[in-house]
Amino acid sequence: MAQSNKKNDATQFNQTSPDSESSSTRGSQRSLSNEDASRRKFLQRAVGGAVAGLATTAGMGLVGPSSALAQSTLTPEMALKELLEGNRRFVAGRLTSFEQDLAILRHHTSEKQQPFAALLACADSRVPVELIFDQSIGHIFVTRNAGNITTSEIIASLEYGAVVLGTKIILVMGHGSCGAVDAAIQGKEVPGQISALYPHIQPAVDLAGPDIEATVKANAKIQAALLRKASTAISVLVKEKKLLVLAAFYNISSGVVSLLERPGADDSN
Ligand SMILES: [Zn+2]
Repeated sequence: MAQSNKKNDATQFNQTSPDSESSSTRGSQRSLSNEDASRRKFLQRAVGGAVAGLATTAGMGLVGPSSALAQSTLTPEMALKELLEGNRRFVAGRLTSFEQDLAILRHHTSEKQQPFAALLACADSRVPVELIFDQSIGHIFVTRNAGNITTSEIIASLEYGAVVLGTKIILVMGHGSCGAVDAAIQGKEVPGQISALYPHIQPAVDLAGPDIEATVKANAKIQAALLRKASTAISVLVKEKKLLVLAAFYNISSGVVSLLERPGADDSN
């Protein structure tokens, strides 16, 4: 296939080595690396022929809208790998999501979404979920509240993500220096309805307080276990190995996401 102009650069990614000259035609964009190549291979495997079609017609690379439509063929383990690899790119400062054409992504997802993963994260401004996992439009289904607590509305939302949209993994992610957890530990007098969060976090405080990080981690595991138990829709998918529900911890200083549970531990707790 001829690579006659810059617009078609993306199609080269299917066919050329990571060391190809394409970086020189891409202006200020960063050079291709082995990691990029393996990511493209991963997405190519996940999407198959659909990628080439989209890449050709839309002039996009493999990390384009195709990956937003790729979830149906991913296993939960592959979805987990994709999230963790995205986090490694974030930590290394090698984000790929901003190289994707957001206008094309919007177009391809305007009528439907098929995110491959879902998150329950804290509302904290230091936890920008898409950035942390280097994901873009249509890729991850994100629910957030202060303290990343499993409420009935959160359960309903994540059930929709898993049952209707087909997410393959749900990460319940706490983070360092969580204000909601800190307030619950201290039982602070707070205005309005803020203290409504406390009962949800108290079991973790009882288990691991007053250490904040230990309590955050305990809380993530408790909320993940609650999600697995409280939702019959989710627990069925977990039992059938079609969905992983795992607790995780985000270090706001290093940017690193670490798993607090291993795949296969879903039946515990
Ligand atoms: Zn927080």
